[in-house]
Amino acid sequence: MKVALAFVVCCAVTLRLCAGAIDVLDVKADTLTDPYVEIPASNIKPKGWLLHQLQIMRDGSTGHLDEVHPKLKNDNGWLGGKGDGWEETPYWLDGAVPLAYLLDDPQLKTKVLKYIQWTLNNQRPSGYFGPITKEEREKGIKVSADNCQAGEDWWPKMVMLKVLQQYYLATNDERVISFMTKYFHYQLKTLKQCPIGKWTEWGASRGAENVMMTQWLYSITREKSLLELASLIESQSFEWSTWLGNRDWVMNAAANQTDKDWMRRHAVNLGMALKSPAINYQRTGQRKYLGALQTGWNDLMTLHGLPMGIFSGDEDLHGNDPTQGVELCAIVEAMYSLEKISQITADTKYMDALEKIAFNALPTQTTDDYNMKQYFQIANQVQVSRGVFDFSLPFDRGMNNVFGLRSGYTCCTSNMHQGWTKFASHLWYSTNDGGLAALQYSPNELQTKVNGKVVTIKEVTSFPFDETVTFEFSAKDSVKFPLTLRIPSWCKASTISVNGRRLDQVQAGRTVTITNSWKEGDKVILNLPMELTTSNWGKNSRAIERGPLVYALKLEERWEKGNEPNEGDYMSVYPTQPWNYGLLKQVIDNPSAHLQVTTRPLTDKFVWNIHNAPIEITAPAKKIPNWKVIDGVAHQPVTDRTGIYKGEVSDTVETIKLVPYGCTKVRIVAFPVVK
Ligand SMILES: [Zn+2]
Repeated sequence: MKVALAFVVCCAVTLRLCAGAIDVLDVKADTLTDPYVEIPASNIKPKGWLLHQLQIMRDGSTGHLDEVHPKLKNDNGWLGGKGDGWEETPYWLDGAVPLAYLLDDPQLKTKVLKYIQWTLNNQRPSGYFGPITKEEREKGIKVSADNCQAGEDWWPKMVMLKVLQQYYLATNDERVISFMTKYFHYQLKTLKQCPIGKWTEWGASRGAENVMMTQWLYSITREKSLLELASLIESQSFEWSTWLGNRDWVMNAAANQTDKDWMRRHAVNLGMALKSPAINYQRTGQRKYLGALQTGWNDLMTLHGLPMGIFSGDEDLHGNDPTQGVELCAIVEAMYSLEKISQITADTKYMDALEKIAFNALPTQTTDDYNMKQYFQIANQVQVSRGVFDFSLPFDRGMNNVFGLRSGYTCCTSNMHQGWTKFASHLWYSTNDGGLAALQYSPNELQTKVNGKVVTIKEVTSFPFDETVTFEFSAKDSVKFPLTLRIPSWCKASTISVNGRRLDQVQAGRTVTITNSWKEGDKVILNLPMELTTSNWGKNSRAIERGPLVYALKLEERWEKGNEPNEGDYMSVYPTQPWNYGLLKQVIDNPSAHLQVTTRPLTDKFVWNIHNAPIEITAPAKKIPNWKVIDGVAHQPVTDRTGIYKGEVSDTVETIKLVPYGCTKVRIVAFPVVK
């Protein structure tokens, strides 16, 4: 049987044809054409472990935050009350709305729709929206273009725009388009008198969120004034594109620990700002922005990178020592930025970065039931407890490291819901050449229309724990379209077969596009062999990696409950076993010869914890007797430039067990190396 099959290995960075004349607004001639286009959450049905993760969230805090979190519960401003009228309600909705549509859950939809309806129904005639302002309440006026001073902070509205955009994608509710159009007209009229940073510096530091939504609306309505608005907001916001492309910023961020310009070093701001150069590139077509993004990302991960794939940020950027922490908001915001960056740049480097954060940094920072979170996680985290530790921002009560619903600061309590949900809704994109692209892998089923025909693709896999991803097609009639798959840069020996026929020319760190007339029963099998490697981190430490996962010392845990009157119940976690090991040098020299991998099948009830870890690696190691906890911190022994720690080391070689980092709560991940 003849199979019409042609495949093209695409360059990692898609060349764009639109870097031509730039008009006075610094705007690309007529269109915003991204290589990839977002798919509605309602078209993606998570399966397997990912479905279970989302169900846990629905049954836990994501589905019930409005019932358990006092800030949201009481007289909510986004429902017309005097309570939270700032960021936390939109933060929660930013994860709860995609969750409702990913799970097609009627109860959760009803719950989140209350806030969406209130917001849509209470837009002022001027276009202004959001909670009733103090001026409105006290003076009985409505905010208008003539009295924009009576309005309030632009920042939380940026988050609500993201919520409404996802709601629109899932429902096609046209009210969103006219609502946003009116609001952006209002912004264009008033931003000169009431600039983006008027009420808080958060508005100016996070303006890219507003620019992104303005350009999204432009992609639908093609109204030119939206691009004028996008340029205006960009001009009033922090100059992230310049800073990320400019080495001075990153050097100052590494050296300066004072309160001078701390908003420029704030890890959550930075997590959001990563997308800023890509958003500017989307509008202008100027490739200098892609250069700025690349320079900024590389600098950031070189100076502040941690083994689990994210930069330090407690709350400010804080270098690459494995005793540093990172805020959960920085993780989920960086993930969302990388989802947008993937869409705009088609550069697989950022897709790989997203994969690493999602499967390593993200899962560890919440509890099994998704009801508690850590404000800061630490890479080498040998205990989770109250204290000050190595963080640049200790709050007075020493609660930044424990698990709690309200411990640390509650931004993460509300914002953490977008991590897994948006990862799930960005597994697939449609492509600007009429096809589909799987840029991240996890079990799911996609149902969408291609060339007017319904296509269903079942993605059968236990990835990231499984080396094989199988795509099973069903369609009433055959439909021809290109299917794009990402080959991660860590995979040097991947293979793809289409209905049993193997393709060649599959290279790591690229995308592969297979054009075919897809029909019922077609099957594409992507095999991604996971090689054991080691990577180098702060203080010349080493981490063990295998494919998308980073591995950490498996330690049995003792959980201890506590209560802090202001911040509520919390949990501390301590290891019940020794943790002070160095890896033998021979492991670093030849990992596959000295590391033993054991895998077991994943159940659909998988939870990211040590008891469920489906992969275990054993390694030879020796104890470093003087490596001890001092004031809660396991200060890193330095592996010197010869590659060996030169202090006292035990003579006994022991076999240690490693499990995926995301399954641990207490751990060592960045190991000193011993002889
Ligand atoms: Zn936070």
